[in-house]
Amino acid sequence: MRRGRLFVVAGPSGAGKGTLIAELLKRYPRTRLSVSATTREPRPGESDGVDYHFLGREEFLRRAGAGEFLEWAEVHGNLYGTPRGTVEEWLEKGHDVVLEIDVQGARQVRERMPEAVTIFVEPPSLEALEERLRRRGTESEEELQRRLRNAVRESGEKEGFRYVVMNDDLQRAVEELCAIYEEESASAEARKRGDWR
Ligand code: ADP
Ligand code: 5GP
Repeated sequence: MRRGRLFVVAGPSGAGKGTLIAELLKRYPRTRLSVSATTREPRPGESDGVDYHFLGREEFLRRAGAGEFLEWAEVHGNLYGTPRGTVEEWLEKGHDVVLEIDVQGARQVRERMPEAVTIFVEPPSLEALEERLRRRGTESEEELQRRLRNAVRESGEKEGFRYVVMNDDLQRAVEELCAIYEEESASAEARKRGDWR
């Protein structure tokens, strides 16, 4: 069985990663989105096991120590990690897998799985980012300011990524992401090798 491909999507909070990935998953239903573990409190409307696996800090650190995460990092004051077992299982079964993680996590994945396709989603400007975060309305003012400060640092790391997608016009960015996916997916690889059924 052909192994799936791992896609890593990173970029500042509010850049549009979640929105773009949702569009990608609609178009390619065999592709799986990894559900991360986090110590952050659930937001209204979020549910355990769907948006995140919500864990206490102690349990998170126990799992990290036991090597249960493919990568993990502290982001905006909370711990976030990618469950290794599920991702491995899906790749083995031939599903392409998408991780929506921060730049520190992307760096760890790049070291451990250099074949992963890394994509950085970039907002058109810091002003646009602030406007999007305000309109999304999911953070307190303090949280929002922290995310904006981190955005500047994160944007300094985009050079390490294989692709940079500018999310100015949403429809154009969706098409660009899907074109990258079409080029790099496991089924595209198989087609190129001529063993695609
Ligand atoms: P992230 O997952 O990177 O934190 P989201 O996908 O939640 O970002 O997007 C942040 C906010 O910006 C959302 O309210 C979303 O609807 C909006 N948004 C996403 N892409 C665009 C775009 N190209 N133009 C304007 N607003 C956008
Ligand atoms: P949020 O709290 O807004 O859902 O996510 C905050 C940040 O954490 C985002 O930049 C998101 O990409 C990142 N993040 C989510 N899950 C993971 C993960 O499993 N690992 C890492 N390193 N970052 C993550």
